[in-house]
Amino acid sequence: MIFDAEIAYNELYAHFGNLVRRNEPLARHCTFGVGGPADVWVSVDKPEDLVGLVTLCAERRWPLLITGNGTNVLYADAGVRGVVARVAINAYTLEERDAETAFLTVGAGISWPRIINELAPKGWGGLEFGPGIPGTLGGGVVSNAGVHGHDLGHVLEWVDIVDARQCEERAVAPTVVRYSHDELELSYRHSRFRAQRRVQFDGEGNPIAAPTN
Ligand SMILES: Cc1cc2nc3c(=O)[nH]c(=O)nc-3n(C[C@H](O)[C@H](O)[C@H](O)COP(=O)(O)OP(=O)(O)OC[C@H]3O[C@@H](n4cnc5c(N)ncnc54)[C@H](O)[C@@H]3O)c2cc1C
Repeated sequence: MIFDAEIAYNELYAHFGNLVRRNEPLARHCTFGVGGPADVWVSVDKPEDLVGLVTLCAERRWPLLITGNGTNVLYADAGVRGVVARVAINAYTLEERDAETAFLTVGAGISWPRIINELAPKGWGGLEFGPGIPGTLGGGVVSNAGVHGHDLGHVLEWVDIVDARQCEERAVAPTVVRYSHDELELSYRHSRFRAQRRVQFDGEGNPIAAPTN
């Protein structure tokens, strides 16, 4: 596979404009402030844009790494060859079910501190154990983030994901798949998404297939 960063940047710039950057230092996007450049970096703030990005990368066979706030990643000095996408989908809806219960549907890019700060003053609880977790809720699903005996799995009903696994074998579009709580294989700091990690990076930042076990 040959990844042409200039072509990828120009195509993505046409759609995402200034949300796309070339040779972006990943040190700017992780808590520990380390890491070399991503060939192409993009911030995605709408669900349909995320589906579009994953579809384009699958069609073009561009390597794609999805990230949240970068609070649980360490990037190598070599950076990443390919596209790094920061999920910044922050929109949410709160549907009141009765006087004491509401159902929160939230974008993967919202941070724990922000959602708690916005909902707690209105009297809603459920996530209040997590204000010290600095990442996004999407990143929190991957590791079933939690603290003090509580975790996201205690309040999570379902997750919609963009599944591009089938695109590795055939020229088909990614699909949006809903996993219910019981399908997420949640346990202490674990979900099915941790178990199914499919990529690692070599010393030059090129993605390589991870061993299956
Ligand atoms: C000071 C500090 C305190 C912390 N305290 C806690 C704690 O109390 N409890 C706890 O559980 N964790 C804690 N963490 C770890 C971290 O905050 C959590 O793991 C958090 O959930 C990571 O979210 P993130 O958005 O930063 O993910 P990132 O670090 O950006 O990504 C983590 C992994 O998830 C993947 N990923 C992220 N978002 C998505 C997405 N939308 N779709 C697909 N894959 C995605 C990335 O590829 C990466 O593999 C702490 C970290 C720090 C620095």
